[in-house]
Amino acid sequence: MIIDILTLFPEMMDAVLGESIIGRAQQKGIVEIKSHNIRDFSTDKHRRVDDYPYGGGKGMVMQPGPIYNAYRSIANGCEKKPFVIYMSPQGKVLNQALAGELSKLEHIIILCGHYEGVDERIIEEIVDMEVSIGDYVLTGGEIPAMVLCDCVCRLVPGVLSSEESFLDESHYSGLLEYPQYTRPPEFLGRKVPEVLLSGHHENIAKWRREQSVLRTRAKRPDLLEEDLIK
Ligand code: SAM
Repeated sequence: MIIDILTLFPEMMDAVLGESIIGRAQQKGIVEIKSHNIRDFSTDKHRRVDDYPYGGGKGMVMQPGPIYNAYRSIANGCEKKPFVIYMSPQGKVLNQALAGELSKLEHIIILCGHYEGVDERIIEEIVDMEVSIGDYVLTGGEIPAMVLCDCVCRLVPGVLSSEESFLDESHYSGLLEYPQYTRPPEFLGRKVPEVLLSGHHENIAKWRREQSVLRTRAKRPDLLEEDLIK
């Protein structure tokens, strides 16, 4: 999978996405993430990329020209139009199912907005989907883009050590994950549940499933209402 990120702060992206599991996935060539500085595509002598909003109002708006030039510099070399996502508080709210769908795409371009956002015409011209990471407003699209890259890339085959790693995880099947324990068997008087030490795989699987349902009911009853498990 290839992900190109259009941003005003490429160093931010590279610092985070170059580390840990996603960093290793890039080293192995399973995913390729490149950040492009939108400022490099400005035709203004001061590399300006924003201007005052028509109609007045507070803040600045990102101009369509530099974004379009950045987009074309990537898309021109592609046989198929990359899928373009604009990170936006007005977009479809990201969840595990959407991350799963996006992980099947070959090439994504992510546009990060800043200031008051981007000129509407660039959304109309190049954007296929607007994605939000939640109903709140951040100062820029960089953190949302990192969230999106992380949760999409870890679902790409080969990124995690085995597919099992995410099959049991919270939200994958509509339930939250069961409680996890590691050594020592007793900590500050709290013992690891007996069944997990029993070595009885069937009983362990049954216990985990029950725990998943119980904790989903306790912590996120809304998931049970909207999903398969009632
Ligand atoms: N004026 C815009 C509005 O009210 O819809 C908000 C602009 S916000 C201050 C600046 C940029 O941050 C946006 O263009 C977007 O790229 C990003 N952003 C902010 N909140 C976001 C969220 N919840 N999800 C995804 N991106 C977000």
